[in-house]
Amino acid sequence: MIIALIEHDRGKLNESSLEMLTLGRGLGLPLHAVLIGEAARPLADRAAAFGAATVHVVQHERLAEYAPEAWAQCVVELIESLKPEAVLASGTDRGNEVMAHVAAQTRLPMAANCIEIKLGNPCVVTRARWGGSLLEEARLNGSTHLLTVAPLAVEAVESPARSPTINTVTPTLDDKVFRVRVSGRVEAGAGKISLAEARVVVGGGRGVGSAEGFKPLEELAELMGGAVGCSRAVTSLGWRPHAEQVGQTGTRIAPDLYIACGVSGATQHLIGARGSKHILAINTDADAPIVAAADYAIIGDLHEVIPALCAEVKKAMA
Ligand SMILES: Cc1cc2nc3c(=O)[nH]c(=O)nc-3n(C[C@H](O)[C@H](O)[C@H](O)COP(=O)(O)OP(=O)(O)OC[C@H]3O[C@@H](n4cnc5c(N)ncnc54)[C@H](O)[C@@H]3O)c2cc1C
Repeated sequence: MIIALIEHDRGKLNESSLEMLTLGRGLGLPLHAVLIGEAARPLADRAAAFGAATVHVVQHERLAEYAPEAWAQCVVELIESLKPEAVLASGTDRGNEVMAHVAAQTRLPMAANCIEIKLGNPCVVTRARWGGSLLEEARLNGSTHLLTVAPLAVEAVESPARSPTINTVTPTLDDKVFRVRVSGRVEAGAGKISLAEARVVVGGGRGVGSAEGFKPLEELAELMGGAVGCSRAVTSLGWRPHAEQVGQTGTRIAPDLYIACGVSGATQHLIGARGSKHILAINTDADAPIVAAADYAIIGDLHEVIPALCAEVKKAMA
C-alpha cells in the first residue's frame, strides 16, 4: 500500500498533489490519501477522482492551521498503523518539510523531488540534479520509502471516479509538535493573482533597470489578467519582493504565456519557468539564453516594446 499526503492550506488544495496522486496510482499498489485537518475533508472526492481508494481524514482541534511537526506526527502514526511500502508527498516547500520531519522521527530513507519511482527493495528513484542538467538514479533501502514528487514531473490526469472509503483518525499531538506553527498571515493584495497559478506571467530581469521600471510590466500583467514575476538579480537588488522570484530558489511557474523581459535566462531561472506552455522573450541581445529557450522573441529595448504591447492590447480590448 502507498499513502499519499495531500497538501492543502485551510482546505484549499495545492494542485501539485494531483500530479503526485497521478504518479502514485501508476505504481501498482493500493493508494490511500491522507488529509490533515477537518477543513480538508471536502477534498476526499477530489483525491478519489485522482486514484485514492481510501482517504484517511486526520482530525484534531489544533490542526486548523499548517504545523510541520504536527503534520509529520500524523503521518508517523499512519505509517505505524498501516505499514505502507511508500509515503508520497508533493515536492513543494511544505511537502519536503513535512517528509523531512517524518524521516528524522522514523529514521526511514527519504528522497525529495523524484521524477520517476520504481518501488521495490531497493526502491529506485530518478531525480533532476544540478539545475536539471543531469538525471540521478538513487536507490533506497528500508521498510517504508519516503518520497516527494517534483512539481510538474507528470501531468495530473483523473482516473475513473469512485466513492472513497473514508477513515477518520485522531492523532496524539502534544505541545512539542506545535513549536513551529502559523502565527499570522499577510495575504496578497485583494484580487492579486498568485504567481504559481497565473495563466500569464510578465517577468522582469536586471534589464528592466530599476524598481520604477516595473510599472509598464505591472500594467501589461494587469491588462492580460496575469501576475508579475522577476529574476533573482532583481530581488537581490531589492526592486521586487522574493515572493515574485521565478526559479530554482523561487517559484516554479506554469502559465500559458511567460513574457520574459530583460531576463538573460540563466539555468536557475529557466528551471522555474520551464512549466510555461509558451515563452516570449523581450531582450536586446539576440544571443541571450532566454531567446534560445523561447517560442517567440522580440529583439529590442523593453522600455519601447512593453508600452507598444500595452497599447496594442488596449486597442484589441476596446
Ligand atoms: C544557487 C543559485 C540559485 C539561483 N536561483 C535563481 C532563481 O531562482 N531565479 C533566478 O532568476 N536566478 C537565480 N539565480 C541567479 C542566476 O544565475 C542569474 O544570475 C540571474 O537569473 C540573472 O538575472 P537576470 O537575467 O535578471 O540578469 P542578467 O543576467 O544580468 O540579464 C539581464 C538581461 O537583460 C537584457 N537587457 C538589458 N537591458 C535591456 C533592455 N533595455 N531591454 C531588453 N533587454 C535588456 C540583457 O541582454 C540580459 O540578457 C541563482 C543562482 C545561484 C548560484
